[in-house]
Amino acid sequence: MAERMLKFVGTPQAMPDKRPPAERRRDFEEIFANYARDKAAEQAARCSQCGVPFCQIHCPLHNNIPDWLKLTAEGRIEEAYELSSATNNFPEICGRICPQDRLCEGNCVIEKGFDSVTIGSVEKFITDTAWNQGWVKPIQPRRERAESVGIVGAGPAGLAAAEQLRRKGYQVTVYDRYDRVGGLLIYGIPNFKLEKEIVQRREKLLRASKVAFRLDCEIGRDISLAELRSRHDAVLLASGVYKARDIAVPGVGLPGITAALDYLTASNRSGLGDAVPDFDSGTLDAKGKNVVVIGGGDTAMDCVRTAVRQGAKSVKCLYRRDRANMPGSQREVRHAEEEGVEFVWLTAPQAFLGKEKVSHVRSVRIHLGMPDSTGRQMPQEIPNSHVNIEADLVLKALGFDPEDLPTMLGTPELGVTGWGTLKIDWKSMMTSLDGVFAAGDIVRGASLVVWAVRDGRDAAERIHSYLATKAQAAVAIAAE
Ligand SMILES: Cc1cc2nc3c(=O)[nH]c(=O)nc-3n(C[C@H](O)[C@H](O)[C@H](O)COP(=O)(O)OP(=O)(O)OC[C@H]3O[C@@H](n4cnc5c(N)ncnc54)[C@H](O)[C@@H]3O)c2cc1C
Ligand code: SF4
Repeated sequence: MAERMLKFVGTPQAMPDKRPPAERRRDFEEIFANYARDKAAEQAARCSQCGVPFCQIHCPLHNNIPDWLKLTAEGRIEEAYELSSATNNFPEICGRICPQDRLCEGNCVIEKGFDSVTIGSVEKFITDTAWNQGWVKPIQPRRERAESVGIVGAGPAGLAAAEQLRRKGYQVTVYDRYDRVGGLLIYGIPNFKLEKEIVQRREKLLRASKVAFRLDCEIGRDISLAELRSRHDAVLLASGVYKARDIAVPGVGLPGITAALDYLTASNRSGLGDAVPDFDSGTLDAKGKNVVVIGGGDTAMDCVRTAVRQGAKSVKCLYRRDRANMPGSQREVRHAEEEGVEFVWLTAPQAFLGKEKVSHVRSVRIHLGMPDSTGRQMPQEIPNSHVNIEADLVLKALGFDPEDLPTMLGTPELGVTGWGTLKIDWKSMMTSLDGVFAAGDIVRGASLVVWAVRDGRDAAERIHSYLATKAQAAVAIAAE
């Protein structure tokens, strides 16, 4: 092992080739190329195979990272794929969009002084190779089961659960109010982070595995939850969080001020070839405009980088804290800066100015004061520090809250937490309704794809236990 691994001392970290910013600004294609096979092996061999792999501990899926790195270093890519796909339904997606600097790579032992192993890029390489080689095959369960499960939401949580349940032989139907499969992977996250084909080939695989999809079908409107429960032996709610947080300042209703997800969805739909009237009319197109994005998370980063690609005149990101306190990935901030985005740290909007439509964001400078009960420094306005920032398009990216599911689903008895997320018993992952489980953002609040996958997998296990127990009880009753 020592011969091939532990190369971090002599081999510097090298990410796959990154396209130059001037080229990236002109299109929506992914910014990183894939590793060539020998480069992936070289980078995987930097792993120190440490006794306590903190990368694995800090990966929400507890991926067996050191082992698949070693297999990659040895050129045993098919085995690396088997291992990597045993714990993750979408390794090539996580490899592309996990904030690795906060998860696996941020906790890599050699990070201190030698730069981490490029875990995400190797993970992406392994599974992209598997797809190219035809190693990724539809599921053929060893036995079919009669019980069926209805899943609400075709995002990563719902899809991961669907795949895991299908592996066990359950009949699975996924319902989604969107017209496409993927949830935020399709309509939220832009192509330059995750190309749509990557998600669509997963959809095809699930369909070939006999997972049924009912799209354009909103539970609570087209089918009631009660009906869904009567159709299926168990139901999983994986409906995500979609209520955009707003900002309570004067002028917020002016034309030209838009919720971030509406803007990103329009851009993604347009890229997919859909007719999008608000995009085609220019309302949701940043071309030639001074764009101001408010917020500091992943959604804000996606908005600023989309606006650059649409040909905005200028793009500014206003965030009330500083760079070190941003919720978004630092890597994404670097990419955005390279592409010409200006970050205006420690600045908050106070009002939106304009007559017929927004023309300026009146902002105030912020000082970070004493930490609050959560340990975060409290933003405090600096008196007389106002500045008016020119803006033709303002995008509000302040985060998401859950919709009012008990009302939307017509089930007031469905328990929710103080934040409006679904209340579950964390052991069984069941909601307050018998046989109704929940997973993903609707339980955690806005989170990450990798956590949605983890929750979907866990929920599938719990649903399996629930159905198996029910089946055993039925057999026992019949035998009495
Ligand atoms: C712009 C943006 C960028 C992001 N970037 C990243 C990133 O880079 N990396 C990362 O890890 N995470 C990122 N995230 C977060 C990540 O996308 C989510 O955490 C993840 O998608 C949650 O998965 P989910 O399956 O719980 O929900 P979703 O992906 O939201 O899927 C829920 C699905 O349920 C459907 N649905 C809702 N209600 C109903 C109903 N009543 N009936 C039928 N269907 C319904 C919705 O249409 C949707 O398709 C980003 C989020 C956003 C908004
Ligand atoms: S799933 Fe995400 S956190 Fe886990 S190893 Fe892959 S990139 Fe890292």
